[in-house]
Amino acid sequence: MKTSDPIDVASHCARAALGMMERHKVPPTPENFAIWYAFVAGRNPALSDAINAILSGGGKFTTKVNEELYERFAVFGQDKAELREVGLRVEEAVGKVLEYLSNAGQGTASYGAALETFSGRLSGGPAPDHLSEAVGAILAETKAMAEINRQLEHNLEASSTEIVRLRNELDDLKREAATDALTQLANRKMFDHSLALAIHNARDGGHPLSLLMIDIDHFKQFNDTYGHPLGDQILKLVGRSLTEIVKVKDTAARYGGEEFAVILPDTSLADAMAMAETIRSQVAAKRVTNRRTGQVLGQVTLSAGAATYVAGEDPESFVNRADEALYLAKRTGRNRVKSQEDVAVAAKTSEDL
Ligand code: GH3
Ligand code: MG
Ligand code: MG
Repeated sequence: MKTSDPIDVASHCARAALGMMERHKVPPTPENFAIWYAFVAGRNPALSDAINAILSGGGKFTTKVNEELYERFAVFGQDKAELREVGLRVEEAVGKVLEYLSNAGQGTASYGAALETFSGRLSGGPAPDHLSEAVGAILAETKAMAEINRQLEHNLEASSTEIVRLRNELDDLKREAATDALTQLANRKMFDHSLALAIHNARDGGHPLSLLMIDIDHFKQFNDTYGHPLGDQILKLVGRSLTEIVKVKDTAARYGGEEFAVILPDTSLADAMAMAETIRSQVAAKRVTNRRTGQVLGQVTLSAGAATYVAGEDPESFVNRADEALYLAKRTGRNRVKSQEDVAVAAKTSEDL
């Protein structure tokens, strides 16, 4: 084939030749391909006449017929060994092209690389007219395939980059949807979800599950005195303290307003009380200052209530029991931690009165 043939014309001829060979059950050997490519390209009137005569006469392309066509119309040079070598590579390429055509769309990087290598090896070798045409066609086809594969690869790469980007974006959105913007703790929605999960796990494993409800003392007064933005700073401070203190398996959440909750899987009531006490004392030890003016605003105190899950209880009742302990802490002076047991004792005491 003349190298001036545009790639798309060559590709078209190669496909047409392979298509006709398949229809007429001509094995896709390099010799046969050279003949059929020349036939489709219409460059040899004598060859066209010979094939058309067989076609219109309903003749079969037997091995003998194919060999005759080859002998008659394929004019090769002296170096048969080299041509045979090239021919083998063409055969290999035809096989690959056929494979490609039948698996259209399944292009892979390795296939692209194989075709590229083949094309590189062929482009330097001398070959007389017909095989040269075949080689040229395969070369063009190969290059077109490689280009398609490159394009496919490029598209796949672009797609996967896009998918990774979207997945990260989705993860961010999910995190955002579960996080309280001000304190960066789990939000109420996440708390509800985590509590349901923790209850499920506690039921299955028979492990203790505890819960803390925590509320800032006299927060309204703080807001009224120093303003809402400083109130927000306090909420952030409490959020940071909770994040620092709780363990990875625990869930610290902003339950609402100035109320917080901590889910403590695998934790007994005594350990939950100890955790609550740590939180209370660490926050109480901080001295809040107005960063802008340097004025020391004083101490932030918390009240907390602790409860341990009772088998079969629903999440609402569990939260209510921890809340009752919290309100006992409020009633008995704030800046302290009370438990469900303290609530029971207090109830008994008031009954006895
Ligand atoms: P107690 O010790 O009994 O808990 O008293 P308290 O003042 O903390 O409780 P109260 O329920 O009377 O007031 C809670 C206040 O928390 C009222 C509300 O303005 C304030 N608050 C709730 N959410 C926010 C917030 O996001 N930012 C700020 N700055 N204030 C908030
Ligand atoms: Mg409060
Ligand atoms: Mg409150």
